[in-house]
Amino acid sequence: MLGMAFGIVLLGVFGIRVMRAAYGGGRRVRAAQRRIGGRRRVFVEQLEATLKWARATRPIYKAWSGTRPFRVAGIVDEAEGCKSFYLVPVDGRPLPRFEPGQYLTFQLPIDLRQKPLVRCYSLSEHPREDYYRVTIKQVEAPVGKPDIPAGRGSGYFCEQVKLGATLDVQAPQGAFFLDPTNELPVVLVGSGIGITPILSMANSIVHERSPREVFVFAGFGNSREQPFREHLRELASHDKVQVDVSYSRPMPADRLGRDYEHRGRVDVARLREVLPSNNYCFYVCGPPGMMESLVPALREWGVPESHIRFEAFGPASVKGLSRGAGSDKIESEPCAVGFSSTETTCRWSGEYESLLEFAESQGVVLDYGCRAGNCGQCLVSVRHGKVVHVKKPGVPMGENECLTCIGLPQGDVELEA
Ligand SMILES: Cc1cc2nc3c(=O)[nH]c(=O)nc-3n(C[C@H](O)[C@H](O)[C@H](O)COP(=O)(O)OP(=O)(O)OC[C@H]3O[C@@H](n4cnc5c(N)ncnc54)[C@H](O)[C@@H]3O)c2cc1C
Repeated sequence: MLGMAFGIVLLGVFGIRVMRAAYGGGRRVRAAQRRIGGRRRVFVEQLEATLKWARATRPIYKAWSGTRPFRVAGIVDEAEGCKSFYLVPVDGRPLPRFEPGQYLTFQLPIDLRQKPLVRCYSLSEHPREDYYRVTIKQVEAPVGKPDIPAGRGSGYFCEQVKLGATLDVQAPQGAFFLDPTNELPVVLVGSGIGITPILSMANSIVHERSPREVFVFAGFGNSREQPFREHLRELASHDKVQVDVSYSRPMPADRLGRDYEHRGRVDVARLREVLPSNNYCFYVCGPPGMMESLVPALREWGVPESHIRFEAFGPASVKGLSRGAGSDKIESEPCAVGFSSTETTCRWSGEYESLLEFAESQGVVLDYGCRAGNCGQCLVSVRHGKVVHVKKPGVPMGENECLTCIGLPQGDVELEA
């Protein structure tokens, strides 16, 4: 009896609430739903940004370990001596996401009697599940030096890799990528083949319909050397995207205003001419020479360090970059080098070009990519002691970190490797 009375009271209260909702409170319910929907959207966006960030920062997350076979499904001529390679996984499974700006590392079977040649190439398209794309410029031998061989990795790609070929590829990685947690408008600067990660970033901003404003500054020799000509034009047709192309050596048929916007190199003077302010996140990629002038010039212009990201593409074969050269020669006396992962300590006698080469000679396996101090894949922490670099690292570095491919010990050291 008591239960029944309680049921009637409950029904009454609930019924009145339902009636109120139906007649008077409908607006409030919809407002509450909108609020919850809004909060959920913000939460999902924050979660996505945090996940992206976690995926892309150190310790470098690799979507697969070792190498995975990829088939070359398409080859497109982009410019003189420059080709795009479309790669699909042999296992047919969907491709994991990468961060726009990251690169692939290839193990190329150039000489079957030797270890595969390792080379890094940036992904030049926005993240997709069906294929990866890299775009490679064939590197010539230095002018007037016929004894020096042309680039081996880029030559292999551009001359020997054919449709249907299978390549061994490491998972996308790299610390130069579009910061997913920052909503500032971006300036993307790419010179020569350095346009590849920049294009991936611009494409993904457009693909994701992000409201971010984008300026793309692209520098080439002339129209013959310019890849992605049509594509850059198409990008420029989007509301939020502006593209500024510079030619340093235009051909007689190249017309200012039609083929390019500026004669000369992309430098800070050009950026200041075009940009309304310096309040942007800058992403810069190109040859080491350009980076050495543009990055300090951005700092001098007042761009905070945290708004400048860069990556240099440099040759991997040029060894002993400053060890051999007279007054620049860096001495590295005999000492002890410890590797914490294997708890091994080895005797460095000074004859190796780098800590990476030394580790390999001792059977210690370390991660590496470009072997030229540019990709950051061989970065390790220095637990104890001092390591100097034989050239300026092409990636930002923290305190007590070193790149083993260009690092030499200065006295006893212990590496977290
Ligand atoms: C993170 C990253 C991303 C990159 N992304 C791209 C990309 O998207 N597209 C791209 O095209 N490149 C890219 N690169 C550059 C690429 O990895 C290679 O460095 C480039 O292709 C040259 O490699 P190679 O094997 O052809 O040349 P190498 O064989 O390494 O030769 C390089 C140069 O050194 C010269 N040389 C060779 N041997 C000697 C010697 N004994 N003495 C003196 N000189 C010598 C060669 O003539 C050539 O000019 C990237 C690099 C990095 C680090």
